[in-house]
Amino acid sequence: MSNGFPEEEYSIHWISDVVDQVLVRDVDVYRISTGKSTSGSIHIGFVRELVIADVIKRKLIEAGKSARTLFVVDDYDPVRSFPPSVSLSLDEWVGKPYSDVPDEFGCCQSFGAHVANELIETFPAFGVDPEVIWQSKLYETPEMQEATRICLRNTETIRDILIEYVARDFNDEQKADYIESMRTWYPVSAICPSCGRIQAGAKGEIVPNRITDYNPETDMVSFTCPSCGHSTDAPLSELRVKLSWRIDWPAKWYVLNVTCEPAGKDHSVKGGSFDTGLEVSKRVFGWDGPVKVPFEWVLIGGRAMATSEGIIFSPKVWLSLASPELYRYLVLKPGLERAIDLHPERIPDMIDEFDRFERVYYGLEDVSEDQRELTELLYPLCLPENVPEEYIPKLPFKFAVITSQMQDILGSTTILERCEQVLKKQYGLDEVPTEAKDMIPIRLHRAKTWAQEYGTERDRVEVPASVPKEIIDTITEEDRDFLREFVGVLKGEPLDDEELQSKVFETARSVGMKDKRAFVVLYRVLISRKSGPRLGGFLNLLGNEWVLKRIKSVL
Ligand SMILES: [Zn+2]
Ligand SMILES: [Zn+2]
Repeated sequence: MSNGFPEEEYSIHWISDVVDQVLVRDVDVYRISTGKSTSGSIHIGFVRELVIADVIKRKLIEAGKSARTLFVVDDYDPVRSFPPSVSLSLDEWVGKPYSDVPDEFGCCQSFGAHVANELIETFPAFGVDPEVIWQSKLYETPEMQEATRICLRNTETIRDILIEYVARDFNDEQKADYIESMRTWYPVSAICPSCGRIQAGAKGEIVPNRITDYNPETDMVSFTCPSCGHSTDAPLSELRVKLSWRIDWPAKWYVLNVTCEPAGKDHSVKGGSFDTGLEVSKRVFGWDGPVKVPFEWVLIGGRAMATSEGIIFSPKVWLSLASPELYRYLVLKPGLERAIDLHPERIPDMIDEFDRFERVYYGLEDVSEDQRELTELLYPLCLPENVPEEYIPKLPFKFAVITSQMQDILGSTTILERCEQVLKKQYGLDEVPTEAKDMIPIRLHRAKTWAQEYGTERDRVEVPASVPKEIIDTITEEDRDFLREFVGVLKGEPLDDEELQSKVFETARSVGMKDKRAFVVLYRVLISRKSGPRLGGFLNLLGNEWVLKRIKSVL
């Protein structure tokens, strides 16, 4: 992975394949939709869906079409459970729509809005700008009411479709039970005007507040709330209602005129909710429905991220560790059918890979013609904004990891100077461009966060303000001979990292000390440990003046 991209990992032809499929639809404005429930903090994996939608939009615009993306916030879904961190009472709110539950932090209109806003705030960083549609508000529109009415009038057809799709793998007995239960089934549930619930019971034993009768002549709806027992007969237009899950989706496609929608594998499997929705689109709404773009999940450290279990690796957390362009790169590079497994402890390697990929784009690395072509196609899609004309040099992340932890010792001015020196040397620059300078503190901050949260012992370095007494006690006379000799090295000509590294070996030999011991002594004096970051570079980072003072303090 370090020197070259394994070519088989790239299959970005998926982008043009999908766009070709979408272009078959002859519409004025291509509308690519995404959607998410607000049951708990939304994890980074969902951003894959947003990025897929975004690149489809970009490619359509490139093809001279008018295109936009949508993000449907499913905040009208009822509460089944709360993630462990939530302080609200589940007994009080279970069965009520997320849009009716208060925001425990007090900053948003509802629990659902808070969950969605956490994600929406990161949209500009990730370079996505979908129009946000709140499902709770959508249901208040005459268009959605009309779609609901269409579904009620086509209840028979919808029953047939569900029997065909949901019961297809049932055995005879299950199938007979299902068909029996569908005889009185309607595709609409109502929010009880008395208790505010759209369903009774919590996870595992849910009874929807489904309507029991609909009269197409009078538009009257009847139901008896399974939660509080309240009975209602009222016109559809006076009630707060919601379509059943498999019907709600195609109704939204119809109302929002969706041309294309990426969907995770849980929904996009053959015969699953997407396919059911397409059938409803055809037989109930009289159109084809959107182009289905199925994609695989994003895992963190090999695990699916389940909001309900409280395992959260949110887009905000990602941005505290790595750039949005790296995320876009990671989700765009493999085919849609491939699961992406993000290992946070490998972020420095991923950043190195992306940095190199970026240099390839700017012609600063030797690669094959094929790789260059791939890079030309993919790199612009990885950037949240337009591609800068000239390459902006990036501080090596692994250098930033150690350097960022030296702020307290060296002060930020010295740190920035050191970082600029590294950039000048690496790229043969006389001056570091402003854009590159501006990026240094961002990278340092991410590197420090990464080291604290995911780094190993080796990546975390703490320099005590002075050498502790118990460390001084371990230093022998032989060690001091070595240190005195090494002081001479530091007072001489400035040396680069590698030269300095070799000088440690040379100096050790010159005083008859084992190399290993020499390194141990220096690490102890500097960081009170037996090992640490590569010494030559670390000494240069701290600077001769600082190191000399430190060594003299133990002589
Ligand atoms: Zn809030
Ligand atoms: Zn009720």
